[in-house]
Amino acid sequence: MSLMYKSTRSEQKVTASYAILKGLADDGGLFVPEVIPALDVPMSELAGMGYKDVAYEVMKLFLADFTETELKSCIDHAYDEKFDTKEIAPLVKAGNAWYLELFHGATIAFKDMALSILPHLMTTAAKKNNVHNEIVILTATSGDTGKAAMAGFADVPGTRIVVFYPKDGVSPVQEKQMVTQKGENTFVVGIQGNFDDAQSGVKKMFGDKALAKELADHGYQFSSANSINIGRLVPQVAYYVYAYAMMLKKGAVKEGNPINIVVPTGNFGNILAAFYAKQMGVPIGKLICASNRNKVLFDFFTTGTYDRNRDFYVTSSPSMDILISSNLERLIYRIAGEDSIKTLEMMTELSKTGKYQITDAMKEGLADFYAGYADEAQTAEEIKAVFEESGYVMDTHTAVASGVYRKYTEETKDTTPTVIASTASPFKFARSVMTAIDPKYGALSEFELVDELVKTAKVSEPAAVTEIRTAPVRHNNQCDVCDMEKTVKAWLGI
Ligand SMILES: *Cc1c(COP(=O)(O)O)cnc(C)c1O
Repeated sequence: MSLMYKSTRSEQKVTASYAILKGLADDGGLFVPEVIPALDVPMSELAGMGYKDVAYEVMKLFLADFTETELKSCIDHAYDEKFDTKEIAPLVKAGNAWYLELFHGATIAFKDMALSILPHLMTTAAKKNNVHNEIVILTATSGDTGKAAMAGFADVPGTRIVVFYPKDGVSPVQEKQMVTQKGENTFVVGIQGNFDDAQSGVKKMFGDKALAKELADHGYQFSSANSINIGRLVPQVAYYVYAYAMMLKKGAVKEGNPINIVVPTGNFGNILAAFYAKQMGVPIGKLICASNRNKVLFDFFTTGTYDRNRDFYVTSSPSMDILISSNLERLIYRIAGEDSIKTLEMMTELSKTGKYQITDAMKEGLADFYAGYADEAQTAEEIKAVFEESGYVMDTHTAVASGVYRKYTEETKDTTPTVIASTASPFKFARSVMTAIDPKYGALSEFELVDELVKTAKVSEPAAVTEIRTAPVRHNNQCDVCDMEKTVKAWLGI
């Protein structure tokens, strides 16, 4: 029996390739695997493998309708020289934690781990499902997804990609990376609103049946590169399996003993992948969910009430500035006993009132998680503290996780070996990082900061940064939230 996917909001069931093509289910729900498959290779064997082989062993179990040749070809095209290290996701010890560096891809954020393979999965899925429409990837970004998705989809035949980002909510490097994007099939738009506005606008277009019909009449169909797409989530599970295998190889853990995982969280995609890795049989103790000042998830885990009715803050970790964590729906579905009616009720409640509450029985399903948050001052202090302790320089998002982990160990005295997901290169947030280390850097320009960071961190400048020093701006589009649909249609010539 081949693994199927079902919607969190109805009984709709589809194959993996169809779920990747569609992105979102017709009922607005997210696709989830009917069961989480168990790893069928012992960890000791995985510890002897390279990244691509581990990725294959994990992904073959989830993407059951892809042939071995198809999946291996996707993996080979994704994890190649676009990454600046053979290890793809190196594990680096600093202080008393292990940092899983997920930022060695083309756009120096962890989104590359999934978005360098998604275009290959999607074009393969289109062939398998006899789709002849041009696929229009519609993306909302809090800064990193947009660039990583465009880098993946640029000039891929049969696809186009539109990216909406909050005009005033991303770092200068993030914005420059996006507006200099090459590729005739790419389109970038800054919106007058925040990430949640962008994401809601995109979700609305996905759910609009009349619009879908209009697109189809012109030979187009939408899909998603956001982490609501199962094609984003599955490749992310792979690096948590790889992380455990590497911990084993390095002698940092004994086979079968648990590790903890700390994830700086926004849309809940990355930590959900870690949760899936645990379900597959990877010995993982606590899943530590770290939020910034927008601590809607911390409040949810501690009270059982999800409430987005609150102020939204722009922080130094902008990729986590999110009040509606889309992937949480997949966890809700699971702790509700895979009950799509209950899930639908709560999600309807969320869209009507901005909040919902889980039952006590559901709360018990959250036992694997610990939640914490770090405010702006704590985030900056953490960057400085770890640099002074060990010479390791981390970005602001990783620092949120690292700061939460520090609080967690102080509070619980837990000494389980711990892996912190390091989600972005410090070069992407050079100003926040350097001024955290020493406020004197505040007077420098963006690229002077990069030069100082090279000296401070003793690492070379990533190619992604060198590129934008001189790249011409190719996109200069802005729109109001209410005009997102009109903007997309105009670009498609509809
Ligand atoms: C997207 C992103 C996050 C948040 O990841 P989610 O999967 O949305 O929870 C954290 N850090 C960085 C650098 C990111 O780009």
